[in-house]
Amino acid sequence: MYRALARSSARQWASSARPVAARGYAAHATPQPFNWEDPLNAKSLYTEEEVAIAETAEAYCQERMLPRVLQAYRDEHYDKKILEEMGELGLLGATIEGYGCAGVSNVASGLITKAVERVDSGYRSGMSVQSSLAMGGIDEFGTQEQKEKFLPGMAKGKILGAFGLTEPNHGSDPGSMETTAKPHPTKKGYLSLSGSKTWITNSPIADVLLVWAKHHETGKIRGYLVERSECPPGTLETPALKNKNGLRASLTGMIHLDNCPVPEAMMFPDVEGLRGPFTCLNSARYGIAWGMTGALEDAVARTRQYALDRKQFKGNPIAKYQLVQKKLADAVTDAAMGTLACVQVGRLKDKGEAAPEMISLIKRQNCDRALYNTRVLQEVFGGNAVSDEYGIGRVVANLFVTQTYEGQSDIHSLILGRAITGIQAFV
Ligand SMILES: Cc1cc2nc3c(=O)[nH]c(=O)nc-3n(C[C@H](O)[C@H](O)[C@H](O)COP(=O)(O)OP(=O)(O)OC[C@H]3O[C@@H](n4cnc5c(N)ncnc54)[C@H](O)[C@@H]3O)c2cc1C
Repeated sequence: MYRALARSSARQWASSARPVAARGYAAHATPQPFNWEDPLNAKSLYTEEEVAIAETAEAYCQERMLPRVLQAYRDEHYDKKILEEMGELGLLGATIEGYGCAGVSNVASGLITKAVERVDSGYRSGMSVQSSLAMGGIDEFGTQEQKEKFLPGMAKGKILGAFGLTEPNHGSDPGSMETTAKPHPTKKGYLSLSGSKTWITNSPIADVLLVWAKHHETGKIRGYLVERSECPPGTLETPALKNKNGLRASLTGMIHLDNCPVPEAMMFPDVEGLRGPFTCLNSARYGIAWGMTGALEDAVARTRQYALDRKQFKGNPIAKYQLVQKKLADAVTDAAMGTLACVQVGRLKDKGEAAPEMISLIKRQNCDRALYNTRVLQEVFGGNAVSDEYGIGRVVANLFVTQTYEGQSDIHSLILGRAITGIQAFV
């Protein structure tokens, strides 16, 4: 049995944000033994509640998700019951206050993400799209009616969401999107959406699709909530994109809109331009930064065990060889530093003080280091790395995707470069 997250406000979490360890400097404190699984004792920075939430998430992920992932990855199958299970535990939209959401701190939500991505990036993608991109967008920009209509069901994982920004011809440059919203020719009070989105997580199973499209009057990007059940036949298609070589345990598809009627009341009322999608992405990118530390820690644990078990040259475990030890040392260092950076940005986010560039920084750094290190760790498995039963190949393939989506790393370099120099490189 798993304990569902307490329904509590984010402010409560913030006010109880006292680390588990006592504050202050003990005169003759005994140094803690080194723990390779948490080398810089990040746990001492979490509140008791955050530790409890992390334990709930980890227990669920290890006991219920992990046993499914190998077959799901082989079959390229996403079990949508996973979102319902997460909903029962209060893991969806966890930072949102009200509407049946847990209202936890950003660090607690990061720890949930980390636990999920320790199992698989595809499962984390499914959760991030539901929580940060779809629910987060509705919570931030939706009308009261939209929030009440969708958020409670989404928090339970009964209503599934998708986030449609990327188009076949516009990925890193979504401002040039071609999808449009025009007055509907026959239905009063309706807009007509036309265009195509691609590489959209959860689109084939989503009940509500947050689609970003240019408004006919202003040419500015606006957000529209497209309800599948309300779309007449032929106006909305969401075919799956099959035969991926990464993120195979998540479902990805397209969104084709052909004069799809959407009530004007389903448009986000106030937000215009890229601020809308980028605000949602900021929150999801923060989660990815956390998730990377979970994926990298999983790769470290797998590699360490393999290196201890595998014997070469006079019966020595390969873990005895310095070149293997260096690979583990590099990976453990990056996972530990990445975790501390996430805690810092999470605390700033709780206070409303996190700049978007900070999130670009940790998303880029943690994705790049996780991808680099797992590619190196993969070598430790020798030929066995090629067998999917060792799991390391799956992690590497997944991390290529996480480095690419939600702003490829070079795009985040440009965002940081612009902030450092004051010069926009990509217009
Ligand atoms: C499995 C998966 C799931 C996804 N889920 C979603 C989703 O749910 N919703 C959604 O909207 N999108 C989603 N995406 C799309 C993803 O966000 C895009 O793939 C990503 O933004 C990159 O866009 P692109 O693929 O068109 O690459 P491009 O924009 O064509 O970029 C290709 C390369 O060119 C580089 N590049 C581009 N412009 C510049 C420049 N000015 N200077 C230097 N280098 C540049 C990029 O860094 C990159 O390396 C998903 C993608 C995948 C693979």
